[in-house]
Amino acid sequence: MRLLVTGGAGYVGGVTAAVLAEGGHEVTVIDDLSTGNRDGVHPAARFIEAPVAEVAGDVLAEGDFDGVLHFAARSLVGESCEDPAAYWHGNVGTSLALLDAMRATGTTNLVFSSTAATYGEPERVPITEDMPKAPTNPYGATKLAIDHAITSYAEAYGLAATSLRYFNVAGAWGGFGENRVVETHLIPLVLQVALGHRDKILVFGDDWPTADGTCVRDYIHVKDLADAHLLALESNEAGRHRIYNLGSGDGYSVRQVIDTCREVTGREIPEQLAPRRAGDPATLIASSAKAVEELGWRPERTDLRTIVADAWEFTEALGDRAHSAPA
Ligand code: UDP
Repeated sequence: MRLLVTGGAGYVGGVTAAVLAEGGHEVTVIDDLSTGNRDGVHPAARFIEAPVAEVAGDVLAEGDFDGVLHFAARSLVGESCEDPAAYWHGNVGTSLALLDAMRATGTTNLVFSSTAATYGEPERVPITEDMPKAPTNPYGATKLAIDHAITSYAEAYGLAATSLRYFNVAGAWGGFGENRVVETHLIPLVLQVALGHRDKILVFGDDWPTADGTCVRDYIHVKDLADAHLLALESNEAGRHRIYNLGSGDGYSVRQVIDTCREVTGREIPEQLAPRRAGDPATLIASSAKAVEELGWRPERTDLRTIVADAWEFTEALGDRAHSAPA
C-alpha cells in the first residue's frame, strides 16, 4: 500500500512507519521534527520535513494514497496544562487540516493515534470503549475532540476510520524506540538511570490504593501496537469510525516496573519517593477484547520483561545519540 504517516519521526509513528516499510509498503513521512528525530525515520521511507497542516494537502494531491496514519501531535500532559493553546491548535487544528486535505483529495482511509487519556479517571478497570470519556487534562481533551471530528467526517463524508486508544506504550523494535528531548515516561526514565544518564528515578507517590501503593499501568509493546494499525487500515469501512483500546490487559505497579528494569539490566537503579504527580489516576488497565475480536489483533509481546528488554537493547545502543546523554 502507498501510505502517509504523519509524525513518523516520533516514537510510535517511527516504529509503525518502520514496520510498514519493512513489510513492503511505500511509506511517506511528514514530520516537522519539533519533537521527533530525523534518525527515527526508517531509511526506506520518503521524508518530508514540514508541519503537517501546511503540506498534507499537496502531498495527498500527488494521489493514489491508500491510507493515512496520523500520529503527529503534542503529547505531554503537564505541558498541555501549562500551554493549552499549543495543544488545541497543534493537535485539533492540525488534525482538522489533515481531515480536510483527505476529503479534498478523496483519500478515505485513516488510522488515528488516540489515547487512554480520553477516559480520565475510570470508574472501574479494565476500561472498555463504552465507558465515560472525561479527560482530566487538555492533552486528553484534544485527542477526544479529534475522535469526535473523525466520527462526524465518517458519517457525513464517508471517511473510513479507526481510532486506537493506546495505554502505556513501551519497548522498541528494529532499532527504533524512545529518544525524546523531554522525557517524562517511566520506562525510558528508569533505563536512563540504569545507563547512568540520570542519578535516580522518582516514584510519584506510594500511598495510592493499589497492592504496593504505587500507580498501576498497562504496558503495551510498541510492535504489537504497530501491528494493530495495519489491521485497522486493512479493515476500515467507508462511513464508519471504529474505536479500540489497546493494552496488554495486565497491570504493573511503578515498583514492579523499576524492579523489572533492575532484573533486565543488572544495574543498580536508585529510587526516591516523591509526591504524587497531579492528574495521575491510581490504576489504568485496558480491555482490548474488542480489538482482539473485531480486528483479529493478537499481541505477542505482553510480558513486561520482554518490553523492558527490548527498550533496554535500544537505549544501550543509542549511546551518544540519546538526548539524555551527558554532554
Ligand atoms: N512515574 C513515576 N516516576 C517518573 C515517571 C512516571 O513514578 O519519573 C509514574 C507515574 O506517576 C505513573 C506511571 O509512572 O503512575 C506511568 O507514568 P508515565 O508518565 O510513563 O505514563 P502515563 O501513565 O502518565 O501515561
